Amino acid sequence: MPWDEAMRSIDSSAVLREAMDDSRCRDLSVGFVPTMGYLHEGHLSLIRRAREADDVVVVSIFVNPLQFGEAEDLDDYPRDLDRDLKMCQEAGVDIAFVPPVDEMYPHGSVETTVGAGRLGKILEGDLRPGHLDGVATVCTKLFSIVGRCRAYFGQKDAQQLALIRRLVIDLDLPVEVVGCPTVRDPDGLALSSRNLYLSPSEREGALVLSRALFEAEEAVVAGERSADKIRDLVTRRVAEEPRVSLQYVDVLDAATFETVSEIDHEAVVALAALAGKARLIDNVVVTGTGRGPDQEVE
Ligand code: AMP
Repeated sequence: MPWDEAMRSIDSSAVLREAMDDSRCRDLSVGFVPTMGYLHEGHLSLIRRAREADDVVVVSIFVNPLQFGEAEDLDDYPRDLDRDLKMCQEAGVDIAFVPPVDEMYPHGSVETTVGAGRLGKILEGDLRPGHLDGVATVCTKLFSIVGRCRAYFGQKDAQQLALIRRLVIDLDLPVEVVGCPTVRDPDGLALSSRNLYLSPSEREGALVLSRALFEAEEAVVAGERSADKIRDLVTRRVAEEPRVSLQYVDVLDAATFETVSEIDHEAVVALAALAGKARLIDNVVVTGTGRGPDQEVE
């Protein structure tokens, strides 16, 4: 193996399942971080959380074709497995699960899928039809292979996190979902593998998104409770930046992801926008009483 022997790289589901069963037999807790690779500090924050809480840390690196639409960036999605494995090893990961596509989908396609329901049809699901069904399906498969574990997901993908929380309840999966705060560059841009697509000018323009969200957060802290006003505020701010076009902004109940009109308990202000060929999503968690627990600056 080119990397440290301390970390195992496994590409077979059966071998991973055996390793996980073996760990649990030895009473070791399993922490699982599913990713699509091209790792950054956001992913590493999840890995560190797992490293702190669990005995065995597993990271999966799999660009899941099922969650990409026909016109989306599956082929272009950034990949650098050697770098990812090095980063995993340095972060103290025990097992990197790196299945080829035909290991996850041996028949090339799938007959049986997991539907994301209402959560799969709104916001991200509306603009990316089938995307969250693909996420639900691959996460169910990964949870089936890994087995009983704590699984770490980023608040950055708030709708995905809400979906996974619901998925494990609806399907009785033996998984404890841990949500982790969004990691940002010091200037506020939420880290994302897709930031690679941004030209320097687009990146500068994209800063309007976190600025608008922080402004929304401040307005809520200052007492604003109307979701309409918060949506308007974000829409106006983003409209001032010609390099970015807003796809949606909404205020959602943090637990159910239902649109709210009054911010009287924990809510998520979530948006998606295009900057050049990059599609960016971001959000802040706000509460009726103050700042949400979602911020972490690198
Ligand atoms: P991805 O590789 O984009 O599928 O992301 C894998 C996991 O990392 C998901 O749970 C994401 O929510 C999480 N993640 C991605 N970016 C960030 C970020 N900036 N801060 C925290 N978590 C993140």
